[in-house]
Amino acid sequence: MRLLLVEDDAALSDRLRLDLEKTGFAVDVAADGVDAEFMGDSEPYAVAVLDLGLPGRPGLEVLRHWRAVGNPLPVLILTARDAWHEKVDGFKAGADDYLSKPFHTAELIVRLQALLRRGVARPHGPVRVAGLELDEETQTVGIPATGEAFALTGTEFRLLRYFMLHPGRVLSKSRLAEQVYDFESERDSNVLEVYVNRLRRKLGRDLIATRRGQGYVFGADAG
Ligand code: CA
Repeated sequence: MRLLLVEDDAALSDRLRLDLEKTGFAVDVAADGVDAEFMGDSEPYAVAVLDLGLPGRPGLEVLRHWRAVGNPLPVLILTARDAWHEKVDGFKAGADDYLSKPFHTAELIVRLQALLRRGVARPHGPVRVAGLELDEETQTVGIPATGEAFALTGTEFRLLRYFMLHPGRVLSKSRLAEQVYDFESERDSNVLEVYVNRLRRKLGRDLIATRRGQGYVFGADAG
């Protein structure tokens, strides 16, 4: 089970990582909100532990973003002691559980296991943005309005998935290239253009707008 641990206190995250790994989780650590959001969008974690007080981007904003783009990742938030409003805000933002600092690691682990048990029964479902429906199991994209469906290559799928998880945002070519290519591949932004144009041919020219010198915006008109 892959777990995303978002915590900027290095001593705490080192200790938690060891304990969680002993329990059988494969743990990735993010120490700021920007990395956390990016990792939660791009990697298929089974569960996340999210501290709220973070540099870069507050934990609540990260969580709101994940929920806004339909990311169903089960999230346990770490709140400050006695900060009842953080718990309320956290649940409103889409948290599944919380623990107040300081806590016993044993309690964190049983809570995570309980979340995972619940998560198994929850359908993860396709990503739906801008009139498209992306099926991550089959790596196909459908247009429900017309009943059309298209097969995608691996690269097309990764690129479209990243676009659909970040609608309406300016995404630079270098950021997209990082998402789309694996570490062995050459990260060539000219090649990226080829893939953007393939997606446009399949799904419609207006779906991905070019911003000169900045990058691309997906689904800006469709919302
Ligand atoms: Ca913190």
